[in-house]
Amino acid sequence: MILDGKKLAQKIKEGLKAEVVALKTKYGVVPKIVNIMVGENPDSSAYMNSQRKAAGFVGIDYELMSLPLDVTQEHLCSLILALNEDDRVTGVMITKPVPAHIHFSDAANLIELNKDIEGINAANIGNLLLGNPTLIPCTAAAVMEHLKSTGVDLSGKEVVIIGDSQIVGKPLSLLLLRELATVTVCHIGTSRAGKLAEHVEQADVLIVAVGKAALVKGSWIKPGAIVIDVGINEVNGKIVGDVDFEDAQKRAAFITPVPGGVGPVTSVMLMRNSIEAFKLIIGV
Ligand code: NAP
Repeated sequence: MILDGKKLAQKIKEGLKAEVVALKTKYGVVPKIVNIMVGENPDSSAYMNSQRKAAGFVGIDYELMSLPLDVTQEHLCSLILALNEDDRVTGVMITKPVPAHIHFSDAANLIELNKDIEGINAANIGNLLLGNPTLIPCTAAAVMEHLKSTGVDLSGKEVVIIGDSQIVGKPLSLLLLRELATVTVCHIGTSRAGKLAEHVEQADVLIVAVGKAALVKGSWIKPGAIVIDVGINEVNGKIVGDVDFEDAQKRAAFITPVPGGVGPVTSVMLMRNSIEAFKLIIGV
């Protein structure tokens, strides 16, 4: 079965829209998020368009703040501190990539804990590690929504994650441990040791987030597995994932396509975090 990210995103968005209407009726305001972009980012424009559309649908105020490419770290940091103080702003994020002279983590860590709608600052990651997550990194949350949509109980399942980045692989490993899955995280060291295939072959659930087309061969997939492909790669003008989809879909019970799998759900998770942030701030 192909896991349709657009359908899943639409279903979640409708629930979020109803929640925003209820919050507005009760409190007279809606969440307002500010996305800071440094310089022009053609690579991230598709993600920003889908954020803007999702915010419009759900009823969240969305402001894009474009800063010049040569903005200083000091200016960026003072802007974040001002947004932290602004009661009307309930969510703040910084779009990646940023120019080389900007230290992304230093800036992101200044975002107030309850306004960190991407769930990426050190305190939010710490809360996730301690088992008390509030704002969860959006892509990891999108993968969890896809897994939930299969209805499969993850307890005791062999889950293999390929890629250990801070926004996908690492937070996912923590979220899956909370579901009592047995989690293996593979990375570049696993590939270099020539052990990727043997781990994938054991996976009841496989999640791939690397950014290398056809990294995972279809023949490696355990029959009946759930396969979530987070990767985005351009090959001959076509967007593809990290898994050899054609062969993998013959063996998997559930599989996400690329495009149209994890991507559409990710921007909706940003909206969900924005509503959670709003509720944390107003204390409901
Ligand atoms: P990242 O920060 O570059 O992380 C990639 C990870 O893969 C790292 O842990 C890296 O290890 C590991 N890796 C690299 N080559 C490998 C190999 N041959 N075998 C095994 N592991 C290898 O990337 P990311 O931000 O997590 O994104 C991963 C992919 O997901 C990208 O294609 C990105 O565009 C896509 N993405 C999609 C969405 C969505 O919503 N669909 C959202 C975010 C990202 P080292 O660090 O040790 O090299």
